[in-house]
Amino acid sequence: MKEALTALSQPTSSQPEFTVQSFFKKINEEGRLTGALCKDCNTKMIPPRPLCSRCASTSLEWFEPPKEGLIVGFSEVHVTNDVFQHLAPYVVAIIDLGDGLKIPGIVKNAKAKDLRVGQRVVVETRKTSINLGADDAPAYWFRKDS
Ligand SMILES: [Zn+2]
Repeated sequence: MKEALTALSQPTSSQPEFTVQSFFKKINEEGRLTGALCKDCNTKMIPPRPLCSRCASTSLEWFEPPKEGLIVGFSEVHVTNDVFQHLAPYVVAIIDLGDGLKIPGIVKNAKAKDLRVGQRVVVETRKTSINLGADDAPAYWFRKDS
């Protein structure tokens, strides 16, 4: 643990940054979700973190999660912040991608009354060269698997 914290406080430029910023940068530039895989204990993290949430190792590599998952829970949003208000009302869901990975996101073109826990959704992303703003959000979302 002490070694991990020392490594974290002294990052080297040759190591990729396993951060939320990198997570969105990769979506914007590569159009795909990515996470961090711990090479010591195989724990997967989305979004990535600079050290393993299970064993604190900084020995990490990028991995690409499955492009589909199952709805764990969801809620319909009617009032939100400036970035997302133009999309309201919309459904936000927690999606289980397997391997203990659960991520939140919008389920596009869906109403809460049409969704159920356990329903399969697919992950979609889009590339954009602009930092997330009202015209760019969301960078990733889910769609009912038809
Ligand atoms: Zn680990």
